[in-house]
Parts: sequence; structure tokens; C-alpha cells
Amino acid sequence: MGARIQGLILSAMRDIGEKRSFDIHAVMSRIREAVRPFPKAALSQLADEGYTSAFEQLVACIISVRTFDEVSAVCARNLFRLGRTPEELAALDPGRIDAAISAATYHEVKAQRIHAAARRITDEYHGSLPCDRDILTSFPGVGPKCANLVLATACGQNRISVDTHVHRIANRWGYVDTRRPEQTLYALEGKLPQRYWAQINLLLVPFGKNICTPRLPQCSDCPVLDMCRQVNVTAHR
Ligand code: SF4
Repeated sequence: MGARIQGLILSAMRDIGEKRSFDIHAVMSRIREAVRPFPKAALSQLADEGYTSAFEQLVACIISVRTFDEVSAVCARNLFRLGRTPEELAALDPGRIDAAISAATYHEVKAQRIHAAARRITDEYHGSLPCDRDILTSFPGVGPKCANLVLATACGQNRISVDTHVHRIANRWGYVDTRRPEQTLYALEGKLPQRYWAQINLLLVPFGKNICTPRLPQCSDCPVLDMCRQVNVTAHR
């Protein structure tokens, strides 16, 4: 029997008689309250500071891949001091972009990608990045997570951005049963009420960093313990 199936069965056995039915509205409401004291995700922080254009959010998301939020936000601010539009960044030497984001993981590759994206947006789209998922994902380094974050944050579209936190937590709740983030996106699109589509990432990033952490989640203090099935949670605080 696979470890995942075993974990599911153990979780189900443990939860019989102890859990109330899962109410996504109550869950989102409680998590919204629980994360108030914690820092927001990097792109959300940057949007609050006025970096709200689709291009700025795209650049910030490219920087943020496999990089801590705190580092991503600093790098993005460094870069935006040099330029905030595709034309301004296209005019820079890629080495200056690299120096500005040097604290980010894979900064050399990201600098090349940001410079190439700035040039392409300048040449093909007259300096205005379209709010179009297919166009966004056509840029190297931009996957569905970044594209949907940009579309939700900068373009006002109702999109679900599934990162590692959303994927892990939705599975622990027992709300979805998926192996990869792309499957989680599909599953959430089929059952998550639309009013939460743009919010779920903003809420679950700080929740996943501070409470439902990858290792040893803080279940004893969790505001949704009574509804969460704790799927595959074998140890917790
Ligand atoms: S911290 Fe524990 S109880 Fe809370 S959502 Fe995560 S796994 Fe569920």
C-alpha cells in the first residue's frame, strides 16, 4: 500500500467522530483573521506600495521563483529604482538588472529573462503587457502560478494562483486530493467558490509560512483544526 493511501486512511480513521464538515466559507474567514499579524506575500506587498502594473507584477513574480518573499521584495524594489516600464528595463544592460537582483536565487538567468521580456513587450506590444494568460505564459520563467497572480493582482481578473502553499494546504484540508499544483488548480477551479479565487493565494501564503508550515504544522493552535482532515500530517506542533 502506498504511503499516500496509507496516510489518507489513517487520517480518515483519526478524524471519524472528531471533525465537523468542511465549510470553505468558515475556513477562509478564520484564516483571514489568523494571518492579519503576518507579513503579506511579496507581490501583494509590492502592490500595496504601488507596483501594480502587469509588467511590474510579472517582473516581481519572475524574481520570486524559488526565492524567499523577503528577498524577492527587496530585489524587486532595487530593480524598480532603475526602471519600472518595459522601455526603461529594455534600455538597461542585463548586468545592471543582475546586480539589482543579485540576492535572488538564479539571478543571472532571471536577469536575462527580465531583460528579454522587457524588450519583447516594448517591440511586440508597444510597451504595454496584455492581460492575456497565453501571452504571459509564453515568457520564459512564467508559469501558470505567476500568470494567474499577475492576472488577479494587476488585471483584476478572477484567477486562482496555486503555489506550493496553496497546493499543500488544500490537500491537507482534504479539500482536494492531488499530486501536482497543476492538478490542484484544476480541482480548485471545479469547487472553490469564485469569490475566493483571487484571495486564496494571498491568504494561504502567510498561513503556510506561519501556521500550516511544510514541516511540523502548528495544528494545536490552528483556527481550522476542527474542519481540517490533516491528510498526510504525521507530526505536528
Ligand atoms: S495547521 Fe494542521 S489543522 Fe491547520 S490547516 Fe494545517 S494541517 Fe490542518
